[in-house]
Amino acid sequence: MIETRLDDVENIFKDLRESFNSGTTKSLSWRKKQIEQLYKMCDEQKHVFASALNDDFHRPSFETLVFDCGSIRNECTHALNEIDEWVRDKKISDAFAFAMLDKYIHPEPLGIALIIGSWNYPYLVTLSPLVGAIAAGNCVILKPSELAPKSAAIMAAMVERYLDPSCVRVVLGGADHVQVLLKGDINKVFYTGSTAVGKIIMKAAAEKMIPVTLECGGKNPVYIADDANMEICAKRIAWGKAINCGQTCLAPDYILCSKTTENRIVPEIIKAWRQFYTDTPFNSESYCHIINNRHFERVKKLINQNKVVHGGETDSENNYIAPTIMTDVTENDDIMREEIFGPILPFITVNNEEEAIKFMNNRDKSLALYVFSSTKSLAQRIINSTSAGSTCVNDVIFQIAPPSLPFGGVGASGLGSYHGKYSFDTFSHQRTVVYAPNWTEPILSKRNPPYNPTITGL
Ligand code: NAD
Repeated sequence: MIETRLDDVENIFKDLRESFNSGTTKSLSWRKKQIEQLYKMCDEQKHVFASALNDDFHRPSFETLVFDCGSIRNECTHALNEIDEWVRDKKISDAFAFAMLDKYIHPEPLGIALIIGSWNYPYLVTLSPLVGAIAAGNCVILKPSELAPKSAAIMAAMVERYLDPSCVRVVLGGADHVQVLLKGDINKVFYTGSTAVGKIIMKAAAEKMIPVTLECGGKNPVYIADDANMEICAKRIAWGKAINCGQTCLAPDYILCSKTTENRIVPEIIKAWRQFYTDTPFNSESYCHIINNRHFERVKKLINQNKVVHGGETDSENNYIAPTIMTDVTENDDIMREEIFGPILPFITVNNEEEAIKFMNNRDKSLALYVFSSTKSLAQRIINSTSAGSTCVNDVIFQIAPPSLPFGGVGASGLGSYHGKYSFDTFSHQRTVVYAPNWTEPILSKRNPPYNPTITGL
């Protein structure tokens, strides 16, 4: 793994601060040009990006082309269409008492933003927030995950080639590098990764009062009502659980449903997986593997072979774990103790939606919560009775796609949100500006001592 020399980090900060102070990134034409270049990079280099991730963890090209490169390009297009409106000062009309003041909200960049990424969608989780950081007029340091080294190295090379290196830099390395970066001259931290490390980041940022956005994970529950369309539901869950080998922050983590529904849906999910990956997913070019041996061992340990009704095969040499279903799972099973982040789908039976709500509310707030039902009021009741970062009814993961919707967690699954205007706001300070005209002095002078309470009605 190529790493940035820790001694160089100080100079990177110096260069970026100089660029920021020069006002380069505040120019609207600079911002647009950089976003256009980012689009171009994710278009022209998409196959290079995909090939690096295939080397890193057998990631099928399609998944990189669509979920990383396609989504980043959507984010760029959306930003380019909207940025003129986003950067505009927003005039505020107010109650009569303040009508005499000329006032507006002026969005200003925070300065130098540090974007720290996870390895599972390494381009998406770094370059998608980068769109908002640039749109808001910041200088940026990107720190991709060291666990996907080929993609991190390619990202560094391409960012240097396509973007303005005086304002956007990539630092390669792991936790030690993050620790050094957090001590540097930064004004914002945008972090994607586990909740445990999120807490470390937040603590370090708190020392310097640096605002943070934390995009973390958790166990995303799915409730399947008895009236759901089983065939469609099965296909969508099978897809969402197995893409990227289950290493997706929004993947369905576990299923809550009645025994009757379990008996109907399990064969449908198995059928869908066979259609996607054949009977031997190991040989499928469409099936991804686990990122490394440490995570392979972690996920493998979560499988209780006595409860496996499908899959369960593993291959340590290739970090391969087959799409797997476990039934009769209880909350005391190992698989329910942590975010699975692998292709294992546990089923827990509940008698009705009340039990499902109670189960979900007894756990940390998740990044996503899914409901499958043909009854809108039932889905609505679950939404109203629970809390989660986002919800998709009758599908999974798809809520991340529209760039106009905020994406983020709540509670243990994260802090703050991004995408589109929400990214712009995340990387901006909303500065209040008030012009107090001189002609108002006769009115304003009433506030001066010696005080006369009768004029205020006090
Ligand atoms: P991770 O927390 O191990 O690493 C994330 C980043 O933090 C990496 O860049 C890493 O170098 C850095 N890091 C690791 N340990 C550190 C330490 N002690 N001090 C400072 N920095 C440190 O996470 P991961 O394994 O790369 O990603 C998986 C997690 O990310 C899952 O929980 C998943 O749900 C979550 N995730 C969330 C989203 C989202 O948008 N909410 C997206 C993708 C992944």
